[in-house]
Amino acid sequence: MNDAVKLAMFGGSRTVGKEDVTKARVGWPVVTEQEHDALRGVLERGLFTSNDAGRGEVSALQQEWAQYVGTRHCAAVSNGTAALELSLAALDIEPGSEVLVPALTFIGSAVPVVQRRLVPVFVDIDPVTFTMDPVAAEKAVTGRTRAILAVHLHGLPCDMRALRALADKHDLYVIEDAAQSQGAEYLGRRTGSLGDINAVSLNAVKNLPTCGEGGLVTTDNEDLYERVVLRRQFGEDLRAGRERDYISRVLAGNEKMSAVQAAFTRCQLSRLDSYSATRDQLVRRFLGRLGSLPGVIVPTCPDDRTHAWHILRLRFDPAAAGFPELPAGQFRSILHRALRAEGVPLQPYQIVPLPGQQALQHLEVPIADFGVSLAVIEDSLTLQRWHLNPNSGPVLDLCATAFEKVWSRLDELAPVGASMNYRAPWHQVMSGAAR
Ligand SMILES: *Cc1c(COP(=O)(O)O)cnc(C)c1O
Repeated sequence: MNDAVKLAMFGGSRTVGKEDVTKARVGWPVVTEQEHDALRGVLERGLFTSNDAGRGEVSALQQEWAQYVGTRHCAAVSNGTAALELSLAALDIEPGSEVLVPALTFIGSAVPVVQRRLVPVFVDIDPVTFTMDPVAAEKAVTGRTRAILAVHLHGLPCDMRALRALADKHDLYVIEDAAQSQGAEYLGRRTGSLGDINAVSLNAVKNLPTCGEGGLVTTDNEDLYERVVLRRQFGEDLRAGRERDYISRVLAGNEKMSAVQAAFTRCQLSRLDSYSATRDQLVRRFLGRLGSLPGVIVPTCPDDRTHAWHILRLRFDPAAAGFPELPAGQFRSILHRALRAEGVPLQPYQIVPLPGQQALQHLEVPIADFGVSLAVIEDSLTLQRWHLNPNSGPVLDLCATAFEKVWSRLDELAPVGASMNYRAPWHQVMSGAAR
């Protein structure tokens, strides 16, 4: 058998070679002269803190992001988790109240809820969009529910119309977790402007990154905005033009952003739309090739919104691929090995519904309640990072070629998958009782 056809897993040559995967093609964030100049500018000017009297990088970023998403106010903070925590603090929800949180998301969505002494009530996801299922959300509402955390997982805006209707019906706040969806639109409006108060992360891995850590809170409500600003800086009123009085009006820590982070993100923001447009083209071409392989279920984007394509989640259906006897987890597992051997960096994203995380098991919510999340975790893998770079086209093409190669030899893989010693991903973290 010639080496190009023999699977890398069985000693053939890799489809995606190390030399193909250069920083220029897949590095993230993309750092240009613009960023170098901006950061040099910060160092030269010496205005390093966020209390810049409206004259520095942090104030400029706040203005530009508010304008970009179309909200009246924006407060820059230290990271996305802090942005969520301050959003919840600003809403001043009574401790012990319930907040609806999707069962499948990053832990950073739920931790601020718990830290505010609120109760996260987990809601299963939709199997196609991977975001909160509005029907399940409605069933989860109780007399103690006060808010819905709308997470635009993987970059796809969640079903905001349904969630907003639910919120209106039960008098709930909507808080957006737009950490993965910068630039994405829902009914023509940008995420980060769709809730009562909205949080974004600027972590270096996100679609709108900084060179480190950062976050942004947006709202149209002036009171909420003032409360966030007060709480990001020890409860002190540090408004422009005011002399510092050292009076802490509320108990609060320090969750401010620095000028260096803001300057870097301003450069990225100026290129966000052009990167998003290029990524949309590249990703759709890539997913088009994968989607024509039987048994690969590629992510889609409903017509009423755009997708930021932060994470690409692929589901695998053994029956559609011609192996009806093969359990989904074993099919996904053997594909993982074969495709990684070809040089495709597939990885899981979350191995357990959130209530199964060790840190949240004290809530005693059985993960068996989240059948869709479990199925998705079991039969899917994700691609992260590479496709964020607008020059990743040639690498994505090679990745698609690797999939086609593996699909041409599924007959060799299926028996290996069938005979493997398999345990579901969440067994790594679940104790016997919690399972
Ligand atoms: C990254 C992320 C967060 C947390 O943001 P940080 O800046 O890392 O604190 C919260 N929610 C989601 C969905 C995220 O992806």
